[in-house]
Amino acid sequence: MLASPLEGTSKIRSASHPPAKKQVRKRASDTAHAGDFVLYGTHASLKECDSTMTNDVQAPTPLELTVHRPSIAQQEALLSAAPMRADLVGAYRGKRYLLRTYGCQMNEHDSEIIAGLLEVMGYAATSDEMEADLILFNTCAVRENAENKVFGEVGRVAPLKQRNPELLLGVCGCMPQEKVVQDKVRETYPWIDLVFGTHNLHRLPELVEQAHHSQDTVMEVWEKAEYGFDDLPKARQDGTRAWVNIQYGCNKFCTYCIVPYTRGRERSRALQSIVEEVKRLGQQGFKEITLLGQNVNDYGLDLGDTDFASLLRAVARVDGIERVRFTTSNPWNFTDALIAAIADSPTVCEHIHLPVQSGSNAVLRRMNRGYTREYYSSLVSRIRTAIPAISLTTDLIVGFPGETEDDFQHTLDLVKETRFETAYTFMYSPRSGTPAASMAGAVPDVIVRERLQRLMNVQNEITRSYSESLVGQRIEVLVEGLSRTNNQVLAGRSRTNRVVLLQGSPEWIGQSVVAHVESANTWTIYGRLLEARAM
Ligand code: SF4
Repeated sequence: MLASPLEGTSKIRSASHPPAKKQVRKRASDTAHAGDFVLYGTHASLKECDSTMTNDVQAPTPLELTVHRPSIAQQEALLSAAPMRADLVGAYRGKRYLLRTYGCQMNEHDSEIIAGLLEVMGYAATSDEMEADLILFNTCAVRENAENKVFGEVGRVAPLKQRNPELLLGVCGCMPQEKVVQDKVRETYPWIDLVFGTHNLHRLPELVEQAHHSQDTVMEVWEKAEYGFDDLPKARQDGTRAWVNIQYGCNKFCTYCIVPYTRGRERSRALQSIVEEVKRLGQQGFKEITLLGQNVNDYGLDLGDTDFASLLRAVARVDGIERVRFTTSNPWNFTDALIAAIADSPTVCEHIHLPVQSGSNAVLRRMNRGYTREYYSSLVSRIRTAIPAISLTTDLIVGFPGETEDDFQHTLDLVKETRFETAYTFMYSPRSGTPAASMAGAVPDVIVRERLQRLMNVQNEITRSYSESLVGQRIEVLVEGLSRTNNQVLAGRSRTNRVVLLQGSPEWIGQSVVAHVESANTWTIYGRLLEARAM
């Protein structure tokens, strides 16, 4: 029987706050609890850490691996517990955190939750590594070289512990969901204080508290989650635009992708909970929301009584919200009801990001994408018939195992025929742990690069002609802030998600305006601000 939902991994003594770190030497095995979490311990004394940092490397002595797997009942109990113990609220006032985020919008939104939890604990954000008391890397597992980069960064900041012995270093997000990464931390990076995954963000306050009192790495990774983090606090980075999670995980198992393994199966959030969050955002002055999920058009399949079209219509009616976007929308399950909801809802922007990945049916089959080129083209045609002003963008992978010149030509043909407004183009790189990583037919690097260049040449020309076609037109722009390269210039986006730079005063930030497009190049539109958009 579970005596307390917070028992097991969290035998936390009540401490004065902020706590002095490393007062308690604790082994993972001390907290072992039958049927509990994945929790590893390593010897990571400061002495070992220091000697490693001065290149006098001593091999760390891994403790015996302790693996606990939480039962669903235990996970439920932990999830239904308050997200934060009352004594942790404000307990870290005066401390500062630095959060580095890698990867997709899902991770960026998770970082808003992480920041929200830390700020409720009393932490304040900093961008200065020297003054940080907690440096946390929210990681992406999609590309292997991103993993290497993260470990490189962790190694780079490790010497800061010499200046600030209370500094905590943490790694979270998708990377720790992989056992190989957990083992790598245990064996090679014992100075990392804190590791957690994508399914237990809500445990962050407890885990930070444990890390402060432990000389061992505190590592808690849940293998799956049946729940979302709808009610956790969020520190949003932008006062105008907000991301709203509607769905977690993915069921598709594209053969090159690690996401179904790191984020678990699709779980939809209750419609009413989403609408309530959007209403709160509207009342707080947010103008644009982006509904976020790995496969947003599968929203509701697991709930049974709703679908994405219904959600979109409900959210599009919320007062104060001027723009609704969604990502990622995959070609599967893109119903006529969904197309009609986009067409009928004035606040839903005329932009769909619709990743195709390849124009070759043979490659699409090996990717397990679940559609053909013909299906994709007919979907594009249905969308364009219903919404003539729609802007379509896509993702394309070049050099997938077995891709022939003929396959690649099919991709080029599809791009020319579909005329995407923009496209994210990627060279295939194998991701260990995915089926494609062991497929035969690797395409030589020199050929992949040459194909990528040809693809980019074709796409950039199409993008440039879209940009130039806007010159002389009046377009609606939501002003988001100042240009990153010139603080005399305002930066915003069109409804079709193109970056627009405007001359104008900062008081327009956060407002929708009408602009006259004066000039354009491939990536940027330059406009003159005319007036506030009529509401
Ligand atoms: S749809 Fe495919 S590419 Fe997208 S997250 Fe799921 S498995 Fe990955």
